[in-house]
Amino acid sequence: MLPELAMLAACGDAPDTSPGVSRALGDHRSTTISDVRYALAFDIPATQEARVRGTVSIHFASSDASQPLVLDFTAPEGSVLEVHAGNTPVAFEHVNGHVVIPAAAFTAGENTVEITFLAGDGALNRNPAFLYTLFVPDRASSAFPSFDQPNLKAVYQLRLTIPADWTAVANGSVRVDERVDGRRTMTFAETRPISTYLFSFAAGDFQIETAERAGRTMNMYHRETDSARVARNRDAIFDLHETAVTWLEEYTGIPYPFEKFDFVAIPSFQYGGMEHVGAILYRAASLFHDEAATQNQKLGRASLIAHETAHMWFGNLVTMDWFDDVWMKEVFANFMAAKIVNPSFPEINHDLRFYLAHYASAYGIDRTEGANPIRQVLENQREAGSLYGAIIYQKAPIVMRHLERMIGEESFRDGLREYLMTHQYGNATWPDLIAILDARSERDLRTWSRVWVEAPGRPTIAAEPIESEGRITGISVTQSDPRGRGLLWNQETEILVRTEGGTESVPVTIEADQQIGLLATPGTAFGFALPGADGVSYAHFELDETSREVLLDAFATIDDPIHRAAAWSALSESMLAGDIAPASLLALVIRTVSDEPNELVSGRLLGSVSSMFWRYLEPERRAAFASDLEAILWRGVEEADGMSRRATFFNTYVSVAFTPVAIERLRRIWENETDLPGLPLSERNFTSIAQALAVREVLDWDRVLETQRNRISNPDRRARFTFVMPALSADSALRDSVFNSFAHPANRTHEPWVLEAMRFLNHPLRAPSAEHYIYPGLELVEEIQVTGDIFFPLRWLNSLLGGHRSKAAAVTVRRFLDERPRYPARLRGKVLQASDGLFRISGLARLDG
Ligand SMILES: [Zn+2]
Repeated sequence: MLPELAMLAACGDAPDTSPGVSRALGDHRSTTISDVRYALAFDIPATQEARVRGTVSIHFASSDASQPLVLDFTAPEGSVLEVHAGNTPVAFEHVNGHVVIPAAAFTAGENTVEITFLAGDGALNRNPAFLYTLFVPDRASSAFPSFDQPNLKAVYQLRLTIPADWTAVANGSVRVDERVDGRRTMTFAETRPISTYLFSFAAGDFQIETAERAGRTMNMYHRETDSARVARNRDAIFDLHETAVTWLEEYTGIPYPFEKFDFVAIPSFQYGGMEHVGAILYRAASLFHDEAATQNQKLGRASLIAHETAHMWFGNLVTMDWFDDVWMKEVFANFMAAKIVNPSFPEINHDLRFYLAHYASAYGIDRTEGANPIRQVLENQREAGSLYGAIIYQKAPIVMRHLERMIGEESFRDGLREYLMTHQYGNATWPDLIAILDARSERDLRTWSRVWVEAPGRPTIAAEPIESEGRITGISVTQSDPRGRGLLWNQETEILVRTEGGTESVPVTIEADQQIGLLATPGTAFGFALPGADGVSYAHFELDETSREVLLDAFATIDDPIHRAAAWSALSESMLAGDIAPASLLALVIRTVSDEPNELVSGRLLGSVSSMFWRYLEPERRAAFASDLEAILWRGVEEADGMSRRATFFNTYVSVAFTPVAIERLRRIWENETDLPGLPLSERNFTSIAQALAVREVLDWDRVLETQRNRISNPDRRARFTFVMPALSADSALRDSVFNSFAHPANRTHEPWVLEAMRFLNHPLRAPSAEHYIYPGLELVEEIQVTGDIFFPLRWLNSLLGGHRSKAAAVTVRRFLDERPRYPARLRGKVLQASDGLFRISGLARLDG
């Protein structure tokens, strides 16, 4: 809400019609426009090339008829065909992605404007046999004229006319379904009030699976042609949704707030999932698992489903007011997902799982020069895509967990219930929530929020033994701000201390830059001090030299798997800081991974192997490590407990296969298309082996790829493989032409395909011949941010830089940034985030934290 004076001032100014939705335009509209209803009709032709035609009738109430009406519509010039206000044709301007209609066409109070248009294709994701909309954060206005901002919620009516042999799914259930003259017209039920980015439909040649769960009918739309794969996964997918809905109804005290619950498995979907009301979109491969799915994949799928389902309350029922608070919907989706998944996997240590799923990714950004705070300022919605990343998805849930601990689980839940009830079908800000929680807490949450939510980076926490008369009696803990701002991150932490007397966990509350923790049992002969052993506290936990050396040796003797995971994290940080050689860490994996009792921990160790081997280890040393590493991995393939662990060993083996023996072994497996004992292999496995063989340039690499392409019968997967194939070529001129083709936006429309091709172009084995991609690849980022979806800029950067390790590559990135002092700040941040590893390896890092 705005005080009255500000409202009057807002009414006096002409609306801002610069490109995008500026905060000024957004505020002007949200204070003067209300009660918005869209009646939309799209006519979707059978051929991908013909434009989609549409009409929209927008009903709204206006409190200020003295200013022109500004709608958002970023389709190309000439896409607005006719505009009527009431029943009268009116003049309009289509400028800067806005349709501007003179004030004279409207009155204060109720108005209707009707527009006939050609939809822009940008967010329609058109494929030969299907299409789907993806409008987050501000792309609805590329498809139809709208008030494209989250705080002008509206109800939607939708009618789709599609080829007769297609089907369609949207936010509401189907009300009318008619076939006339080879066309099918489907009319959908009116929605509850939702934001533009949540309005969605998909249409095409889809199969439908239907299931009843807890009295609710759910439909799954998909294009999977392998019926065994569908049958194997179907029940689990429906069950996981039902579990999530039931859990959320119970936790929030609010019944599922929308009319129906369907979801769609999209081949090569840009994200894991997108929470469109009543019609969630998922990446098909995330739902349909291979027979030998790993434990991590199963947990990942359960978390993804819980995440998208949680959005129905957190994000869809109550929505951020502006995209600067987009993190709020993501934090609760991930935070709730972690809670929801727990009961379905009773054998899992969920604190450990939460730690592994969040901390390393969050540190991966917070340790870089380009770190961003959780809450960021957003001047214009067109830049909303640059807000997303691990700080929102991984750090924010960590911080939320701290908050829950501070307030207490029950008060926290009650606060969230109040927040949802108060703002249902509306919008709210972070300060709105903090005010509710603050009333339930003794702590000053606003001050806490300024450090944890509004500042980038993390503290450094180091521990040192305190000696008295030859005995270790305690531990001195220091916290500091590596960015020199003198911030204090209040939190609880635990230091695992080993002396000759035994191992002890020492709790320490960080409320000043220096704290002391006392050992219950003082001992002589200091072994190590591992700060952050609790797996809850968040910092760069720095190891002293003795602790580093002892921990490298004693890793496997640490009993608690969370302590081992924290030790691994601290040792990895030491490697990144240049205090431990990559070879020492790789040797630790080789020594311990076969006997690691906890599958999540062994999964983490194996998950680090590829980047340590290819990137951090000096290339001259790869040969020395390869046979030992391959031998350990192969032993895991043959001997590890259970299919899931074997699959993890196998995937790691494929990614690092280096010696002729290993490459020959992969080749035989691929030639014969046979399963391994205790490990059924899927088309995906054979595809990744074929790609691994090609990038290693086996003699007939081109025949291998061609054969593999012919083996793939699913049209969507074959199209992807075909697209990626030339990026695997041994012919560097062909690879160059693939890279150059990405300069054209039309060749970047299938983002997951492009990213896969980019990773092969910049594979460590090809890095020397790929260095000339770096500068032009960086030059594309500004444009990519405009044309691509929200995760694409950082993922593009990661695939561009992730295979490189040379000083020349690092210098190129520095030069690119130095030449552009006025480069957009958030994009600069992304470049610095993606190049952190490269800077560290090549000695060009400027921040130790
Ligand atoms: Zn989400």
